Amino acid sequence: MSLVVVGSVAYDGVETPHGKVDRMLGGACTYISLAASFFTHVKVVAVVGEDFASEDYDLLAARDIDLSGLERVPGKTFFWAGVYSADMNDRTTLRTDLNVFADFHPKLPDHYRGQPYALLGNIQPALQRSVREQMHGVRLIGGDTMNYWIHDFREELLQTIRHWDFLLINDSEARLLSGESNLGRAAEKVRQMGPAAVIIKRGEYGAILFHNHGYFAVPGYPLERVHDPTGAGDCFAGGFMGYLAEQGAGGNGPVDPMLMSRAVVYGSVMGSFCCERFGVDRFRTLTRQDIDRRFEEFRNFTSF
Ligand code: AMP
Repeated sequence: MSLVVVGSVAYDGVETPHGKVDRMLGGACTYISLAASFFTHVKVVAVVGEDFASEDYDLLAARDIDLSGLERVPGKTFFWAGVYSADMNDRTTLRTDLNVFADFHPKLPDHYRGQPYALLGNIQPALQRSVREQMHGVRLIGGDTMNYWIHDFREELLQTIRHWDFLLINDSEARLLSGESNLGRAAEKVRQMGPAAVIIKRGEYGAILFHNHGYFAVPGYPLERVHDPTGAGDCFAGGFMGYLAEQGAGGNGPVDPMLMSRAVVYGSVMGSFCCERFGVDRFRTLTRQDIDRRFEEFRNFTSF
């Protein structure tokens, strides 16, 4: 049983108060897949250009990620560059070169279509919907979105999330999507749009899960030094969904709220590891033992 992941595979240029890297492997699909690969088998749907390096391909393959849905086409890989503020809570996009991503039409290989789990990274809502439509027998599906789609593609986004089990979204996006400033009310309104569970990510302040039976809140992991927050939200999503897939969640009614709470903690764990090094570097050495140790640490520092 695998998790199908769609989104950007990119090269990123990132500057934070702790350093600057002009070009490194990035992209939402990359971060989601790496994080989820510690829990479940992942199948990627994405596009790269001719410049996509073999060592980057090998890093994903070494995590046993199925790359048969990673198209390689003439042109350059999507490139994004950004710079973070001193406290790293804000970032400014310096460059977005869509390159081969501009003509991306996700095509699922046959052996992807019957998989039970799907995580739709932040891409145009119509493309997210097309992935959903190519799959049969989905048990649990959810995804991410961003301001741009909420602003300029609202109707398309509403048509898309209607069929999702969960939506991962940050606090300002939840307010924008719902028109409510109070987060509880915002989550309730978003749930009425379709997803039974809404996870509101609040960066270093943690995350709140809202579902039919109430809510669950988790603080951010108190990292001593955040090197690079790029991809933390995607790694959260990968850890969350990866854990649910590992546990065989969904399929027969609503997901057990306790399972979802644990998934939120695994999401937070994976987001925190992501920030410890630049780009995807932390995932080169991370082990499942490190992950479970931090999960227990979460349990200890949140119990009273
Ligand atoms: P996050 O920090 O979770 O928002 O994810 C950052 C990742 O998203 C980076 O690795 C970028 O390559 C990727 N990214 C940035 N802008 C876009 C975009 N417009 N569409 C798809 N992926 C993007």
